[in-house]
Amino acid sequence: MTTLPAAQTAIAAKTPAADYAPPYASPRGLNDPHVRDLMAQCIHCGLCLPACPTYAVFHTEMDSPRGRIALIQAAADGRIGLAGGFQTHIDLCLGCRACETACPSGVQYGALLEAARATLAEETQPGPVGRFAGWLGLRQLMPHPKRLRLLARALRLYQVSGLQRAVRGLNFLPVRLRAMEGLLPPLPATYPDYRQPAPAVGQKRGEVALLTGCVQDAFLAGVNAATVRVLQRNGYEVHFPARQTCCGAAQLHQGDQELAQDLARRNVNACLELDYTAIISNAGGCGATLKQVDHLLADDPLYAERAKTFVGKLQDISEFLVDHLHQPPTGRLDLRVTYADSCHLRHGQKVVRPPRQLIQTIPGVELVELRQPEMCCGSAGVYNIVQPETAGDVLDAKLADIAGTKAQVVIATNTGCHMQLLYGVRQAGLRAEVLHLVELLDRSYAKAGPTP
Ligand code: SF4
Ligand code: SF4
Repeated sequence: MTTLPAAQTAIAAKTPAADYAPPYASPRGLNDPHVRDLMAQCIHCGLCLPACPTYAVFHTEMDSPRGRIALIQAAADGRIGLAGGFQTHIDLCLGCRACETACPSGVQYGALLEAARATLAEETQPGPVGRFAGWLGLRQLMPHPKRLRLLARALRLYQVSGLQRAVRGLNFLPVRLRAMEGLLPPLPATYPDYRQPAPAVGQKRGEVALLTGCVQDAFLAGVNAATVRVLQRNGYEVHFPARQTCCGAAQLHQGDQELAQDLARRNVNACLELDYTAIISNAGGCGATLKQVDHLLADDPLYAERAKTFVGKLQDISEFLVDHLHQPPTGRLDLRVTYADSCHLRHGQKVVRPPRQLIQTIPGVELVELRQPEMCCGSAGVYNIVQPETAGDVLDAKLADIAGTKAQVVIATNTGCHMQLLYGVRQAGLRAEVLHLVELLDRSYAKAGPTP
């Protein structure tokens, strides 16, 4: 359990979070009666302010969690309009949920933010460019892994042809396009084949379903490949449910609850086709959204129970491995490593220790903690594309923290963070590799040689 500083403990004693544990429902908007219950939990103490990355950048109350809750309250009461200041401050929120971890009163800020964004999506109209980008990204690409792979193949041509170097040298792209281009990791030449399950290596201990994701599958294919090898090595047959789709996080965070629910149903159908030992996610942001599909589908009589079963089986790869590490890694890697928590793994799923425990199982690895591990890296879904300047300020603070550790490897556990850190480390000229946790484990296994 987290140890609270004295002031927080005093407040927590009065209003312990455990006394208030409503489901992490997704209110349909600011008119949803549940929103009022959520807001009533805020006692305006301000203990969340030091944890908030946008407050650290702007030092303004309206860009702090407490200020945003006050704005949401005012908008729900009809005292202020949605356009203008309200939308600006809500748009500037990273949705990192560090404020939830810091809050002694158990305020479910993430649910409030989703309600605000759902209402904004309903009541305000983005311009034609915004509408087209949303339609293309959220509807036409992310739910379709094959289309994303095609796009990644085309972009690989752009990379290997030398065009990318020329474009980066000329620096003529508009700011958002430049942000997007900068995030492109070195793209894979080949992709894993998910048509058949990957067999267990050695004694078989179970069958798991792997959620392969959308952007990660296409742009960071090595992460899924390493995940499969590590699971196989520990005795698990890995299945790739064919009808799975994007987790719906980006759609939900942009206020499109209907589409997020549709994607949730498709994932529930796909992953409950067989009775798997576990359903595994290896991306913190995706896992956080998938762990709330029972609330997202609570009002759907056909899916409410099935969604609970799905969530009951869903685990982040680090949660699963820490309990099922039948073959600990033995290959020695003499490396200084730091771990950059994914916000939605740490603050959303409350998974903090398992990734650290796994890193420390590797012989020769020294884990050096960041000074502020609870702070976001500025990725936050598409935040680094739509708010590139603020995202850059948040990223700079994270990079300074990383540089202070003198780590040779930075471990990420979420797709967006992984790409953001690859970009940041390259831009800052740090001599550090960015790897997913499973890639580090996989490297140790590879060094140890085949399973005895
Ligand atoms: S979600 Fe993150 S950025 Fe938004 S108010 Fe909370 S701490 Fe600040
Ligand atoms: S959200 Fe929590 S920590 Fe922040 S002001 Fe409200 S009660 Fe205090």
